Amino acid sequence: MPRIGVAFVLAAGLAAASAAASASAGAAAPPAPRALLQELVELNTTHSYGSTGAAKLLQERFLAAGFAPEDVTLVVPEDQPAKGNLVVRLHGRGRGRPILYIGHLDVVEARREDWSFDPFKLTEDAGWLYGRGVIDMKGQDVAMAVSLMRLKQEGFKPARDLIVAFTADEEAGGDANGVEWLLHKHRDLVDAQMVINPDGGEAGMKSGRRLYVAIQTSEKTFLTFGLEAADKGGHSSRPTAGNPIYRLAAALSRLAQFRFPVHLTATSREYFARRSALEQGQLQGDMRSIGSGSADAAAIERLSAVVETNIMLRTTCTATMIDGGHAENALPQRARATIQCRVIPGESPETVEAALRTVLADPLIAISTITPAKPNPESALTPAILEAVRETTQGIWPDVIVLPEMSPGATDSHFSRAVGIPSYGIDGMFDDLDDGRAHGRDERIGVEAFQQELEFTYRLMKRLAAN
Ligand SMILES: [Zn+2]
Repeated sequence: MPRIGVAFVLAAGLAAASAAASASAGAAAPPAPRALLQELVELNTTHSYGSTGAAKLLQERFLAAGFAPEDVTLVVPEDQPAKGNLVVRLHGRGRGRPILYIGHLDVVEARREDWSFDPFKLTEDAGWLYGRGVIDMKGQDVAMAVSLMRLKQEGFKPARDLIVAFTADEEAGGDANGVEWLLHKHRDLVDAQMVINPDGGEAGMKSGRRLYVAIQTSEKTFLTFGLEAADKGGHSSRPTAGNPIYRLAAALSRLAQFRFPVHLTATSREYFARRSALEQGQLQGDMRSIGSGSADAAAIERLSAVVETNIMLRTTCTATMIDGGHAENALPQRARATIQCRVIPGESPETVEAALRTVLADPLIAISTITPAKPNPESALTPAILEAVRETTQGIWPDVIVLPEMSPGATDSHFSRAVGIPSYGIDGMFDDLDDGRAHGRDERIGVEAFQQELEFTYRLMKRLAAN
């Protein structure tokens, strides 16, 4: 159908020409964000399907928006054809090294029978947009993509290059993690002064009230130990005191009663100092005293009794799995437990293991490392980044405060921090702190929250790249 083809090319050319008259040469209007979100949600990117299809879809959209092919790079590992990544670059004036935004394209599995709606369709209902990945993190991917296209269309020339990498395999913790792979195999494409990762930030609200935008500067380190108690066993009619199940159970009971010492970082101190503004009464006083370094034992005790604040104060280790014994009528020869630790940045795995050994207090229990810790230093909260986020945030929501945060779980930022690139989790998609649905059923975002996220991302991207 050559005639239709020619007509289409002409029409596209005219549209591009008229766009160029008001903005930069060749740039066209970005796609409607809602339509792009719908396309991404309807492309299943769970672990078994992979992310290459979504990366290709975004590649087409960036090319249609006027980006040069050499600035829109689809990079797919040779041995993992389904785990593709897309790296897009908006050229700046070369004043400083680039800013890299990262966003994963993959999502957690979702079953139709668990959901009120089809998880792989975008459904609007009563002011909400439902679909797998809308908050984690296809909504943010759309915000990054559309913001970069909008900057291109405006003819905005950042001081330094802006790079956005849409990546594979964050959720399954698989062997094709896009951020890790790009940093090690294609460093030239993604090398940067600083990373922004909307997967890590948090815009928290409660009962409809917007409270804070948190800048994630650090993450606790993931570290897993195995415990094993062993014995020669024997007939269950002749019980012994050396029963490995009893020994292990006693040691685990000691661990259950144990708390690691309080270990504050620059981030957690500042977090408590600022967070106190949102609280009242005793809790406010306790948080303030932690922030100013004057907390007494009673304040620490009260904050340690609540999960949410306890995990900000210290390293934690908890039992997650247990097994032992081999027959109904035999003394066990072996009992094993898995201990999962989340370690405050700056604390060594050796220190944690030594503390465990002391508290378990049984030299016959062998301790081994199942998953070693990966170094993950805290990124310094610079006045420049703090001010950029504060100004952007309060330009949209004047009453919302900005605070730094250490997250108890891991994001892709731990790969970029590990290679020495300061990384910040920042996101403006407000979500109810008491109704988190990422990874769960009926994942959703507010229609208005999505609109505001688009504006927040655009403004922050522009602000950071302008300097
Ligand atoms: Zn995520």
